[in-house]
Amino acid sequence: MSKAQRPESPCEPREPTRTGMSKEALKQAYVDNLFFIQGRFREVATPHDLYMAAAYTARDRLLERWVRSAQLFKSSHARTVCYLSAEYLLGPHLAKTLINLGITQAAREAAEELELDFTAVLEEEEEPGLGNGGLGRLAACFMDSLATLRIPAIGYGIRYEFGIFDQRIEDGWQVEVSDNWLHNGNPWEIPRPKICFPVCYGGHTERYRDADDQWRTRWVPAMVIQGMAYDTPILGFGTDNVNLLRLWKSEAAESLDFQAFNIGDYYGAVHAKIEAETISKILYPNDEPEAGKELRLKQQYFFVSCSIQDMIRLHLNTVGPIERFDRKFVAQLNDTHPALAIAELMRLLLDEHGMDWEQAWGITHRTFCYTNHTLLPEALETWPVALLERLLPRHLEIIYEINQRFLDQVRVRFFADDARVARMSLIGEDGERRVRMAHLAVVGSHQVNGVAELHSELVRTTILRDFHDLWPERFTNVTNGVSPRRFIMVSNPRLGRLISEVCGNTGWARDLEQLRRLEEYADDPAFQARWREIKTAAKRDLAAWMAARTGVDLDPVQLFDVQAKRIHEYKRQHLNVLHIIRTYQRIKQDPNHDLVPRAFIFGGKAAPGYFAAKLLIKLINAVAEVINHDPEVNGTIRVAFMPDFNVKNGQRLYPAADLSEQISLAGKEASGTGNMKFSMNGALTIGTLDGANIEIRRAVGEENFFLFGMDAETVAHRQAEGYRPWDHYHGDPELRADIDLINSGLFSHGDTSLFRPLTDQLVNHDPFMVLADYRAYLEAQEHVSSVYRDPARWTRMSILNAARMGHFSSDRAIREYAERIWAVEPLPVESGAETTP
Ligand SMILES: *Cc1c(COP(=O)(O)O)cnc(C)c1O
Repeated sequence: MSKAQRPESPCEPREPTRTGMSKEALKQAYVDNLFFIQGRFREVATPHDLYMAAAYTARDRLLERWVRSAQLFKSSHARTVCYLSAEYLLGPHLAKTLINLGITQAAREAAEELELDFTAVLEEEEEPGLGNGGLGRLAACFMDSLATLRIPAIGYGIRYEFGIFDQRIEDGWQVEVSDNWLHNGNPWEIPRPKICFPVCYGGHTERYRDADDQWRTRWVPAMVIQGMAYDTPILGFGTDNVNLLRLWKSEAAESLDFQAFNIGDYYGAVHAKIEAETISKILYPNDEPEAGKELRLKQQYFFVSCSIQDMIRLHLNTVGPIERFDRKFVAQLNDTHPALAIAELMRLLLDEHGMDWEQAWGITHRTFCYTNHTLLPEALETWPVALLERLLPRHLEIIYEINQRFLDQVRVRFFADDARVARMSLIGEDGERRVRMAHLAVVGSHQVNGVAELHSELVRTTILRDFHDLWPERFTNVTNGVSPRRFIMVSNPRLGRLISEVCGNTGWARDLEQLRRLEEYADDPAFQARWREIKTAAKRDLAAWMAARTGVDLDPVQLFDVQAKRIHEYKRQHLNVLHIIRTYQRIKQDPNHDLVPRAFIFGGKAAPGYFAAKLLIKLINAVAEVINHDPEVNGTIRVAFMPDFNVKNGQRLYPAADLSEQISLAGKEASGTGNMKFSMNGALTIGTLDGANIEIRRAVGEENFFLFGMDAETVAHRQAEGYRPWDHYHGDPELRADIDLINSGLFSHGDTSLFRPLTDQLVNHDPFMVLADYRAYLEAQEHVSSVYRDPARWTRMSILNAARMGHFSSDRAIREYAERIWAVEPLPVESGAETTP
């Protein structure tokens, strides 16, 4: 095309049908994409072809808005949020994109006219599992909210070739299957071969004098690879703003090392290429003991180095100069996984941009903010000094210097308090010397937040107490939230439609406080009936899916009692199991016992190296096996384990729950977000005073929440005075009978040793105080059953739960970050693209 013919801007409207939003335009685009992208026509297309054509049809409409957004963000020099996260658990793109574009209905009609099964097309998508659980899902909800609130943002992360493993259940045990999610191609990403950065490892550092006769440091690495950008557009709901999720893939610096090739070491060169590609190959499971650590550190550095280099490039390309970097960007560290970014920005400013320490530190410190996600001591990241010295010698020098200057400050402020200095040091000196990443993150950031009120309080008073003494103004709370687009509109379209009817339109999905309008109808019998129909329909959908996948029959008449989250001792799935066993024993003792029928449904993955969690999965399935086949139980209760709990399967589960199990030991769950998803969908919660449960209970009203168990203060007390689970075992005959039943071999074909590690741990150590909360939990469960017998009362509580969840939208959380932490403003994009018909 000659220059004269080219449209003035890449966003000039093309032929109207290409990205039109009407049913007719979608139909035409769909058929075109099936032909020109997949090379198929209807009669020979596979389900995957049909999905790909739909995905490209949606994507074309994203790109138009994206290009316009990028132009505006560049020309306006907008202050931009960079979210640094090692994980993004995005969930399927297609349904969410259609909703955010506002064309779900048109797309459905287009599909019907083409005689396609719209639901089947959506089902065909495999989700990108680039995260373990809550932390990665939070990053995904935040990206959704940033775009919806029209805040310019870039999410930086890693394009893992293999995400979180797929879980299968075989003979009751978890079996991990590798997640080859890119196998069929990923229509949602755009490779950027020209956006590439070198990343170095190893070697040594040298001192030299620069042209101005200043002493400087030069890093002479032993190995260099490169990171290449893959961009995924993230569209907001009801807006044309599109933000960028930029994930890095590692590769050899040259596709082959030609020097090595020339001297004949061809295989050596290929080996280097493989080694480089290994870095972004696989997502590490959390909750794992030390293993494969070195590669994980390489991974963390890889992605922060690419991201910081990219931010500097973007800044210098637009506004510059480098001295104003922190005005252009604010960078949020999602836990300590990206904390090396602090040392990396310092290195680039000092060594590459010739800045002096004070100035570089000022910029760095004003750029970063840090979110803490855990209080569990085993989950606080530390890296051996020896490993850093070998892999990142320059960064270790910088960390030492940060530490020295920081500890000088501590010594002046807290005179002659050596113990405090040792506690606060970035370097842990007991045993092997290790870098404490949380300390680096706090010292290098200007704001530090926890993710629920209780959690932030515990951060201030326990793990980071000394830092709070020094800099109280640096600490704050932002309670997590979840995206109502993902977890109501996409997950539970029936409920979404009912809410839209009550609110008059879909505006509630970006202003979730509007859910309050449901309160008016809480006692209205006709509305209650519709509410129950929606719940029952979701339960029926889940039951059909579970029957097909697991062979377990669930009955929508039963109370659906759901615990879905990672399997972890602190989350106490075993407490739930003890209640199931107690219920079973009651039926066995008195088959005529008048019981509320219940389906106990579990979902969740265990880290592959976490033996206790894997045994817990086996126990759940073993108990299910016995109970589901006992004729005396006769279907009154059922136990089911949903395999492969991920976002897509979560979308089936959250809408179908009557009861949400949030039963972690108080003080252990930072926030939880599953708790919010359940409540938004009208489940009632049985829960402890932990994480965001406390705020949820306050919001929905204590009369609408089944509370039980010790609070965090009591837990701390009892642990300090020496907790003895043995006393509970001996003091409570029912508890003892439940544990003894596990040990009897009833659930293990007579094998009395299979579950011993689990029961011995409970009776002798019980670090998460399952036995201490057992009795209170049973009583709360009794209360649940009695309320469930009164449908009008239960439905009222369910409606009120949903109605009062406005606060737990991730939009509210992002608004708080934007105002209190980031100092960023919305920048609305007007794409000129055709809008919803
Ligand atoms: C929300 C979510 C989680 C977090 O659940 P919690 O109950 O907060 O632990 C984990 N995994 C998936 C797939 C989720 O959607």
